[in-house]
Amino acid sequence: MSTSTTDSRFRGHVAPRTALLRQTAERAIRYLDGLDERPVTATPAALARLAGLDEPLPDQPTDPNEVIALLDEIGSPATTATAGGRYFGFVIGGALPAAVAANWLTAAWDQDAGLVALAPGAAYLEEVARGWLLDLLGLPPDAAAGFVTGATMANFTALAAARHAVLARAGWNVEADGLFGAPPVTIVVGDEVHVSVLKALSLAGFGRERVVRVPVDGQGRMRAGALPALTGPTIVCAQAGNVNSGAFDPIADISARAHDHGAWVHVDSAFGLWAAAAPGRAHLAEGIAAADSWATDAHKWLNVPYDSGIVFVRDANALRAAMGVTAAYLVTSERREPGDCTPEMSRRARGVEVWAALRSLGRSGLAELIERCCRHASRFAAGLAAAGHEILNEVELNQVLVSFGSPEQTRQVIAALQADGTCWCGGTVWQGRTAMRISVSSWATTDEDVERSLAVMLDLAARVQRA
Ligand SMILES: *Cc1c(COP(=O)(O)O)cnc(C)c1O
Repeated sequence: MSTSTTDSRFRGHVAPRTALLRQTAERAIRYLDGLDERPVTATPAALARLAGLDEPLPDQPTDPNEVIALLDEIGSPATTATAGGRYFGFVIGGALPAAVAANWLTAAWDQDAGLVALAPGAAYLEEVARGWLLDLLGLPPDAAAGFVTGATMANFTALAAARHAVLARAGWNVEADGLFGAPPVTIVVGDEVHVSVLKALSLAGFGRERVVRVPVDGQGRMRAGALPALTGPTIVCAQAGNVNSGAFDPIADISARAHDHGAWVHVDSAFGLWAAAAPGRAHLAEGIAAADSWATDAHKWLNVPYDSGIVFVRDANALRAAMGVTAAYLVTSERREPGDCTPEMSRRARGVEVWAALRSLGRSGLAELIERCCRHASRFAAGLAAAGHEILNEVELNQVLVSFGSPEQTRQVIAALQADGTCWCGGTVWQGRTAMRISVSSWATTDEDVERSLAVMLDLAARVQRA
C-alpha cells in the first residue's frame, strides 16, 4: 500500500508508535550499559520509590511515552542486575544480545505460537531449534520437544507423558479416565531431588510425599545400586546437575536398571544438560541419552530471556497423547502442532529466542560459553581455597559451595556480600553444612568480574573471621 492511499488516522497512529519504540529501545540500551556501574541489587531508595506506582488507576488514557518514562524511571532501578556479569545467586543466566534482540522483534510480531496456522514462522523455527538442540545435546534425533516456561513446566510435561506411557502399558487410559481407580504408579526420586520435580509430581496427581527416595553420595548423586526392586508402572526421576553441587546422577546405570523393569526414566537437567554441548564437560552428561525424557531451561545456561524451558520426550506419541488437543476444528496442518507438545494452547513464540541464541553462538560459541562459566567457577573455588576457605563440592561444572567457618560466620559473610553490592551470592545448606553458593551461568561474566567479586568475598570473609 502506498503512503498516499494511507488513511490519515493511520498515519497519525504510526508516527507516535515509531518514536515510542525508538525511545524505548534507547532506554533499554541505557539500562544495559549502566549495569556495570550499579549495585547488583536494587538500593533501598530505589525500592522505596516503587510506592510512586501505587496510585489509583487513571480514568483517562495516558500518552504511552509517559507510561514508559514512568516505568523506566521507577521500574529500572528496582531491578536486580541479573543481566550483568556479577550475579551468582541461584542458577541465573543473563540474556545474550542476540536473544534480547530476537525477543524484541518477536514481541513486535505478536505471534500466537500454539498453532502452525497462526504462527508458521515461529513453528518452523522451533522445529529447526529442536533439531539443533537434539544434535548439540546428544539426545535421540527423533525426540519431540515442547517450548515451555521453564524447567518446572518441562518436568511437569515430561511426567505427564511418562504417566501416559506407563499406565497405557498397564491397560489404563489416564487422559480419558484420570488417576482415580488407576493402577498405582511407583515414583522413584533421588534424595537430592529438586523441589520443582516434587511440585510437578503433585501437579500430575502423584503427590509430593508418595515417592520412594533413593540415597545419594557425598556429591548428591543417586546411588544406582540402592534403587528399589521395580515392579509395575514406575517412573524414575533422575537428575543431571544438582542445584547445589552441580553433580550428575549415573543416568546410564539408572536407565539400564529401570528399563529392565519397563520403567520410564525422566531426567531433570535444568542446567546440567548443557554440559553435553561442551567437549570438555560432556563426559559429565555421558549416558544421559539413555533416558526417556529430559527437562531443561533455556533461560539458565542458554542465556535467553525469561521465560524459557524445553521438554524433550523420546516417544513423541506419549507427549502428544498427554498434551494433544483432539478437537477437530484445531487440526489445521499435517505438521507438528506446537500446542500438542506443551500444556499451553496460546503462548508466545519463545522458541524463536532459542533459535537466535543458537544461531548466533554456533556450536563452538555455545561450547565456549559453557566452558567459560565452568572455568570461572574453578577460579572462584581456587581463590577461596587458597585463602583457606573450605570448598564443599567437587567443582566440575559451574557451581561452587564454600564455607567460611561456622554456620554463623558463613551467614555473616553472605549478608555482608549482599549488602556490599559488588556481586550477589546466596546461602544454602549442603548435606547439613551451611554454605554460600556461587553459580556462574552468564555469558556476561568476565575474568575481571570474577577477580573483582573474589577480592570482595576474601576481604569480607577476613573481616568476619577477625571479628
Ligand atoms: C532451576 C531448576 C529447576 C526449576 O527451573 P525453573 O526454570 O525455575 O522452573 C529445576 N531443576 C533444577 C535442577 C534447577 O536448577
